[in-house]
Amino acid sequence: MRYLILSDIHANQEALAAALEQASGAWDTTLCLGDTVGYGADPNACAEFVRTKIAHVVRGNHDKACAGLDDLEWFNAAARASALWTQQVMRPENMEWLRQLPKGPIVLGEFQILHGSPLDEDEYLLQAQDARQLIGYLDTPVSFFGHTHLQGGFMLHRSGVFRIPGVPRDASFVDFELEKDTFYLINPGSVGQPRDGDPRAAYAIYDDEQRVVRYMRTPYDIAAAQAKIRAAALPDILARRLGIGQ
Ligand code: ZN
Repeated sequence: MRYLILSDIHANQEALAAALEQASGAWDTTLCLGDTVGYGADPNACAEFVRTKIAHVVRGNHDKACAGLDDLEWFNAAARASALWTQQVMRPENMEWLRQLPKGPIVLGEFQILHGSPLDEDEYLLQAQDARQLIGYLDTPVSFFGHTHLQGGFMLHRSGVFRIPGVPRDASFVDFELEKDTFYLINPGSVGQPRDGDPRAAYAIYDDEQRVVRYMRTPYDIAAAQAKIRAAALPDILARRLGIGQ
């Protein structure tokens, strides 16, 4: 089975459309690791897509905040403004779906899907030491996570914990083969708000028969996504950061 893995779409319809076009025909089923909404200007279109087309979804911290399930006091000003705006524009059926999204991890056979960390959906796995602390706590050999918006992740091998690189700037994909007897924390990167300095939309396709993760990157119409953010009078930083991938 080939899994299309999307995370941190963040209401960016242009990025989502480009990813789906590039991945067309290359997957059998779909996973989403949370943060479908928040930051971007198309929460309804993105929620609609995930609600109707994605097989397995976990919630993210922005999904919780936009659904009114979390206190906004931990959010910075731009994130708070976008969560309040999203609450106003979300259609009832999308809001209801958002409220009922399950908390990760969800175990699906040989792998699990989650937003932040297997132990805490809101925790960021940024450094190898964050991943090292999970030794002994991983229920499956492979975990797919998001939240950091950094494509790649970590491998927990007998000889140590190593960072997995994402797609190089001059390529549109890179294959990463999984070995036996090793644990993997795989981050497909963020579709709608990459923060690894590469503004292209990020996602991944996992082939569980070949045991290969294909990390993907695609350019998209950043100017159109920025124009919608500005037209919605959302904080300008949310438009600017898309241009630099931060
Ligand atoms: Zn996010």
